[in-house]
Amino acid sequence: MAGTKSGKYWVTWANTHAKNSSKVDDLEFTFKPKVKAFIKALEDGGANITIKATNRHKKRAYLFHWCWKIYLGKCKPSAPPKLIGVDIQWDHGDLGKSKAGAKEMIDGFGLAIPPNSVYPPSITSKHIGGMAIDMDITWKGTIKVKKKDGTEVSVEFKSDTSKNTVLHAIGASYGVKKLINDKPHWSFDGK
Ligand SMILES: [Zn+2]
Repeated sequence: MAGTKSGKYWVTWANTHAKNSSKVDDLEFTFKPKVKAFIKALEDGGANITIKATNRHKKRAYLFHWCWKIYLGKCKPSAPPKLIGVDIQWDHGDLGKSKAGAKEMIDGFGLAIPPNSVYPPSITSKHIGGMAIDMDITWKGTIKVKKKDGTEVSVEFKSDTSKNTVLHAIGASYGVKKLINDKPHWSFDGK
């Protein structure tokens, strides 16, 4: 049986080999210019942008997802598919040991488990592959922001970005679409 058993080794490994990014430059190459143009329009209008996350590493997402499911008994330790470049052995040949290895990873990565989160970390997030960005956009009062076609739109600040449909329309004009109910999240398709 090949591979290195699940456990804290993989936390260290991921922190070297599968790092996430909060740089716009790490976004997927067709999405990146759209985000850059949107951010420039916002900044030109007087908004402040704080970028929290862009590209989530596929291998990191894989490790997050499957350690969560195994530890919580949502799948068998033998269930995870292989991912090329991640030579991990999830199944220690003993359920208790397999879960203990998975738990070391949950702790090491700081993953939320029930009751804090009842959903496994996503392996289909648009952040994987750099098609989404999490950012805080703030300003005071009302500012004017240009849409892609050059028309200026007055947009009032709302602390809940999910409710600011005017801002969503501006983003959409650049091809950066808001996911409702996920405050900082914008993506190429709004998911
Ligand atoms: Zn996001």
